[in-house]
Amino acid sequence: MKSPLGLVAMFVTLHVGRYLLTAGAAWAFLWGWKANPFTAARRIQTTGPSPGDVRREVLASLRTGVLFGVLFGLLSVGLPVVPLRASGVGAALEFGAWLLALLVVHDTYFYWSHRLAHHPAVFGWLHALHHRSRTPTPFAALAFGVADALLQVLWAVPLVRWVPVPSAVWVAFSFVAIGINVLGHCGVEPFPARWRRHPVFKWLNFATMHDLHHQQVHGNFGLYSSAWDRWMGTVLPLPEPVREPPAPAAARAAPGPSGT
Ligand SMILES: [Zn+2]
Ligand SMILES: [Zn+2]
Repeated sequence: MKSPLGLVAMFVTLHVGRYLLTAGAAWAFLWGWKANPFTAARRIQTTGPSPGDVRREVLASLRTGVLFGVLFGLLSVGLPVVPLRASGVGAALEFGAWLLALLVVHDTYFYWSHRLAHHPAVFGWLHALHHRSRTPTPFAALAFGVADALLQVLWAVPLVRWVPVPSAVWVAFSFVAIGINVLGHCGVEPFPARWRRHPVFKWLNFATMHDLHHQQVHGNFGLYSSAWDRWMGTVLPLPEPVREPPAPAAARAAPGPSGT
């Protein structure tokens, strides 16, 4: 059994590490590689962040990472490592079912707590820091004030203490969560625009949708899915036509400037 200090050190390393790894990789690939054709074709906004924006996002996110690490380190004191109960294919199914359950619970909690954070009575002191990023970058993923950050993880406290979620599922969940979060703030839409009208894929929450949340503020409150936004009528209309590179075949077939 690890000491409280050992647990805090382990969880701070996990939370800060997963942030630096995912946000850093997204930044390096999408923005660090000069004249990157992938980014050029898929940028959501035409303006970019200032160096001050990036600095603020990184510092606030690192503080959130440390806060999460201390909180979950202390919460884990006295708790055993929980193994998967099944083995073989059963273990894979058990793993997937737990992971899906965590994502559904978190998606629901996030939507409603996010809507609460946008109430005019609390927005200024609770959530305004996150919205100082009008053109968010991958580093904005954890850029929250202290109270906002605590609100973000309140849902997990009873689950960590009283529900025997396998430890490996928590680790996987924390990386899936930060990965999707970074994707939502990366300023680039990696998926084709037609997916947003697809009968199945439209239920996902695309980077374009969360980016629009940062621009317009009143709508698109979802995290992993757009389900609650759709059910509650809080989807922001997407600007049309949606920026999308032409398919190679269409580009070849298109007439040139002389009409030939
Ligand atoms: Zn918000
Ligand atoms: Zn955001």
